[in-house]
Amino acid sequence: MSWFRGFEAILTREAPLACRTTFGIGGAAEALLEPRDAQEFAEAWGAARASGRPALLLGGGSNLLVADAGVRAVVVTTTRLSGAPERRGSRIVAPAGLPLRALARYALDCGLSGLEPLVGIPGTVGGAVRMNAGGRHGTIGRCVERLWCVAEDGGLVERPGAEVRWGYRETSLREPVAAVELKLTPETPEAVRERTRAILREKAQAQPLGKRSAGCFFRNSAPEPAWRLIADAGLRGHRVGGAAVSEKHANFLINLGRATAADVLSLSGAVRARVRDRWGIVLEHEVHCWPQTGN
Ligand SMILES: Cc1cc2nc3c(=O)[nH]c(=O)nc-3n(C[C@H](O)[C@H](O)[C@H](O)COP(=O)(O)OP(=O)(O)OC[C@H]3O[C@@H](n4cnc5c(N)ncnc54)[C@H](O)[C@@H]3O)c2cc1C
Repeated sequence: MSWFRGFEAILTREAPLACRTTFGIGGAAEALLEPRDAQEFAEAWGAARASGRPALLLGGGSNLLVADAGVRAVVVTTTRLSGAPERRGSRIVAPAGLPLRALARYALDCGLSGLEPLVGIPGTVGGAVRMNAGGRHGTIGRCVERLWCVAEDGGLVERPGAEVRWGYRETSLREPVAAVELKLTPETPEAVRERTRAILREKAQAQPLGKRSAGCFFRNSAPEPAWRLIADAGLRGHRVGGAAVSEKHANFLINLGRATAADVLSLSGAVRARVRDRWGIVLEHEVHCWPQTGN
């Protein structure tokens, strides 16, 4: 692995990934790089790209299913890019690896509104931006004023948020995000706290937050939400091996304890087949799979 000369301090070979995902499933990465600041992040990404292996980015692993055999790839993770967020008037600048819950908490303490829809969503700021995370109360994309991304030449480039296409759990971003500036609205901390609590209550009632999952497994692309299509097809509680369709929210596939990625993929295949046969609708994965499954 001579291509890692100079990166030995942040390199782990055959790094287990299960412990780095909320599913708690999957094999190892051939190599894992954990940069400690934005400049090292850009350099590590450059080295990963030059390695001849596929280069993959990992945030909090909360929207990810890793294959049981792992990935023959160089994974660069942002988990150490998690310094303190910085307030600039009604804006907050946050590093990509900051946990989303820490960002939402900071905004609340500052009395800045806009990030309440993100409460209860695990993962990192970078992953949330890449996925345009959020829900029916709003998404992170509408708050993003500026981003600092890793450019093709391995440097850091500043981009206006307005340049990015913010779609439903999808963006036009393909480059690594190192940091982001969010434009928020000043309010009292009490008002932000009140809204935050209401959204958290709503989520705790609807979602199996204590179970191992990657959130909603399928995209909501039909007029009916995916959970309803799955529930009305009689699949609540349906199991394959150690994986099951949540009884509480039918679009959550959960790891009952010892599920393998093969169990989850076989369960997702069974769900897709039943929904297609019953409703004529083909569900697509919202969760990203490593390696890609071509779903
Ligand atoms: C219990 C539970 C509830 C959830 N609820 C919601 C919800 O309400 N709404 C919602 O939108 N999501 C939800 N999710 C899904 C998930 O938390 C979000 O998609 C989250 O934003 C993913 O962030 P992450 O850091 O974990 O990304 P990862 O899972 O690590 O990565 C996801 C994708 O983003 C890429 N990526 C990661 N970091 C970067 C970066 N710095 N730059 C560029 N690309 C990057 C990865 O390569 C990958 O393609 C839920 C998940 C769980 C487990």
